[in-house]
Amino acid sequence: MNTQKNELPDEFHKPPVYSFGPLGTDGSTDLKTLLGGKGANLAEMTRLDVPVPPGFTITTEVCGWYVRDRSSALKALRPFVDRALKRLGKEMGQEFGRSKNPLLVSVRSGAPISMPGMMDTVLNVGLNSETRQGLIERAGNDDAAQRTTLDCELRLLEMFGTVVDQVPESVFNELRNSALEANGVGRVDQLSISRLNELREAFHTVYASSTGAAFPGDPREQLERAIEAVFSSWNSSRAQTYRRLHGIADDLGTAVNVQAMVFGNAGPRSATGVCFTRNPSTGTPEFFGEYLINAQGEEVVAGTRTPMPIEPGPSTKPGTTFGEVFPEAYRELLEVRDRLETHYGDVQDIEFTVERDRLHILQTRRGQRTGIAAIRIATDFVDEGRIEPDTAINRVDPVALGQLLAPVLTSESRASASDCWVAQGLPAGPGGASGRIALDAESAIKMAETTEDPVILVRMETSPEDIAGMAIADGILTARGGATSHAAVVARGLGKPCVVGCETLRVRAKARAIEFGKTTLSEGDTLSLDGSTGDVFSGSIETADSEILRVIDGNLDRDQSTTHMRFTRLLEWADEKRTLGVRANADTPEDALRARALGAEGIGLCRTEHMFFGEERIRTFRQMILARSAEGRCGALEMLLPWQRQDFVEILSAMDGLPVTVRLLDPPLHEFLPHGTQEIERFAREAGLPVEEVRARVEETSESNPMLGTRGCRLGLLFPEIIEMQARAIFQATQQLKSAGGDPHPEIMIPLVGISEEALRTREVIDRIAAETSSADSPIAYRVGTMIEIPRAAFIADRLAKSLDFFSFGTNDLTQMTFGFSRDDTAALLNQYAESGILAEDPFVTIDRAGVGALIQIAAERGRAGNPRLKVGLCGEHGGDPKSISFCRELGLDYVSASPLRIPGARLAAAQAEPNS
Ligand code: PEP
Ligand code: MG
Repeated sequence: MNTQKNELPDEFHKPPVYSFGPLGTDGSTDLKTLLGGKGANLAEMTRLDVPVPPGFTITTEVCGWYVRDRSSALKALRPFVDRALKRLGKEMGQEFGRSKNPLLVSVRSGAPISMPGMMDTVLNVGLNSETRQGLIERAGNDDAAQRTTLDCELRLLEMFGTVVDQVPESVFNELRNSALEANGVGRVDQLSISRLNELREAFHTVYASSTGAAFPGDPREQLERAIEAVFSSWNSSRAQTYRRLHGIADDLGTAVNVQAMVFGNAGPRSATGVCFTRNPSTGTPEFFGEYLINAQGEEVVAGTRTPMPIEPGPSTKPGTTFGEVFPEAYRELLEVRDRLETHYGDVQDIEFTVERDRLHILQTRRGQRTGIAAIRIATDFVDEGRIEPDTAINRVDPVALGQLLAPVLTSESRASASDCWVAQGLPAGPGGASGRIALDAESAIKMAETTEDPVILVRMETSPEDIAGMAIADGILTARGGATSHAAVVARGLGKPCVVGCETLRVRAKARAIEFGKTTLSEGDTLSLDGSTGDVFSGSIETADSEILRVIDGNLDRDQSTTHMRFTRLLEWADEKRTLGVRANADTPEDALRARALGAEGIGLCRTEHMFFGEERIRTFRQMILARSAEGRCGALEMLLPWQRQDFVEILSAMDGLPVTVRLLDPPLHEFLPHGTQEIERFAREAGLPVEEVRARVEETSESNPMLGTRGCRLGLLFPEIIEMQARAIFQATQQLKSAGGDPHPEIMIPLVGISEEALRTREVIDRIAAETSSADSPIAYRVGTMIEIPRAAFIADRLAKSLDFFSFGTNDLTQMTFGFSRDDTAALLNQYAESGILAEDPFVTIDRAGVGALIQIAAERGRAGNPRLKVGLCGEHGGDPKSISFCRELGLDYVSASPLRIPGARLAAAQAEPNS
């Protein structure tokens, strides 16, 4: 350790700097929170004798202090960094800042949770006019040594300029491109030494003119400013966006890793690369990676050049694989791959550099993977005896399971679109997407805001700045970059179909157009991607159900889908573990059947209003609303009864043997009525009513705050005929099924109760109809419960529970009413709140534990105190959200209910929420 605890300033609870190298290693994987993922793993790998260049990690605690008090933190840090640098110099046999045999370092970010490419890196720190000479001498004092050193200096100037001093990247790009153009070459390493020297001078000049000061020659100043820039990048807007998208806390901070430089740009026997121990798109157990000869650190992940594959693929040119070019380093890399995967017990994403045939490992971290890859890896790891099913459950993100149910381009739809095929890139994130072309993040966001159409983000390469546009896009296409580039890694993390390295693609930013050879498409035109094959098509292509859904719906034999088999196995393990029930929100027999096949243990919410939307039904329903008398209403309801009964017969039979919670009519009446002159006139004509009368009734029913108006149980209390009809339809359907040998379990749910008398009176109606429908030889078993959607209901839960059999939390309305945020109009406000840090999470997505959650807890406790046999569930949108599911498990609720496609994720999340035994 670099210091004793008692020498530390008060702000540090732990030493601020942890070294790793031949003289000893302070950290380990266990210290991820303090050292960040990269720092913790560098320490761990050093302990494992993996060839890692030595270095030291500045802790996340220092970052926290830096954010609070920049100058005190930097001042306190200085002596610790000095000591660590000295030690590093000793380990390398070099000295930082000395002209003879100088030490150069890389300065890289590393947060406790990986945020690929979102924060900053500066390489070759320590290079100045004196150390430059020392470096050339050490490297052999020849042309090659000069080239490498010049290349390093160009990179330092550019990275330092852009990262530390925010000089726009274009400033350096323009200089480089004009040098390349003037000399008729495509890459910097093809320039002559004198041209490289000219370019270096030009970089220095442009740096000085852009920043108002010469490039800092003092290596120690370079280092301190680079460290500071990494700390600052924690709060860059792209890092904040990424954290918001992935639910990462803002106060974790980043560590900074300072590591001895190794040079992948030291000529043709040097390289840099990235590899995954298994394929991160499909999960196939094949070594998967890419590399670039004579390149440095960031180039593969930055995606500015399309790299070569490590292992041969169908279109790999002979003699270009890593094994063929660097046989020794390849053998060692294979050995490191096995060692790291076995040690961590999970797929690793490894960064490496080869300097003159010698392999160095610069990073290992858990490999980001798609949903399909996640289930394959989890089940394969169990089969290989590496992990237990219990661990496998935790290896898959429940949200990523949704990707396996998302639409795909099928071989049939691809074949029929073969005329529209325009290009082939590298498949980097599976799934199919069709959408309108957006050429940058800004226009992707604007398109998504102003149209309903899906968006495909098309870029030469994506940079971390594009994160908000990537998040909003339905698919991503880039001209450059490989399958390990940040674009690909981030797209996989977001679960987006993605094609990268599409080399025939040209983006004409000025003309707002893209070209594939002779085909030109403009921004806004439609484009389709197949992220599983890398194919790109102009125009839109029909998507089809995913493989899993085809099995679920009986359109594909289950024996033909290994993906379905893996999916089922994983979910069976989850079911064995979980104690929280999972039901479905389903309003149609088709949804009910699909939900059951996806593992639903009943229906937790059947919204009956959705049953009135068919053409003929809505007309009759409107007549019922418009009727001025109870008789008029009953007439219309009599017509609706057989339809409702048939709906319930089909839904109860789809869920035979399982509970089906049917909610009585909920929405305000005006939602059903015609709006606008034309619609009103058409309805009046069809219903044979005077237009004026219809218009008057529409006006009468309109409310200025309908969500707080005549809806929910209030409707049924004003018009008891409605709930009588609904209850009758449910009970008649029950009797019909029973007499046919079925096993229906109806539960009737009363919406929007806030007063116990509301529940009591509604229940009376239901019980009366049940008694009328029952017979001595066929009594009907049923339950009656209420939704808890109004804060007052939570407080009077004990009283409510006395006359009811179950509660179900309608957290959509409960959130709306607790916060006073309209469910329908608050998206823009909530975005603002998220961006400015007023609210950490969208409360309509994840239960707000402190407020809404407290109400749920109160209601569950009081309800159970009032009726120990009370069943308690949740059926708002939160029922499919893993964090909210975990909260429900903590409170000991009986079940959550989610829309059919979210059921697999809910089953998995419920298992993950079980406390470890
Ligand atoms: C709710 O409010 O959470 C709920 C499930 O009901 P709805 O969304 O239909 O209002
Ligand atoms: Mg509701």
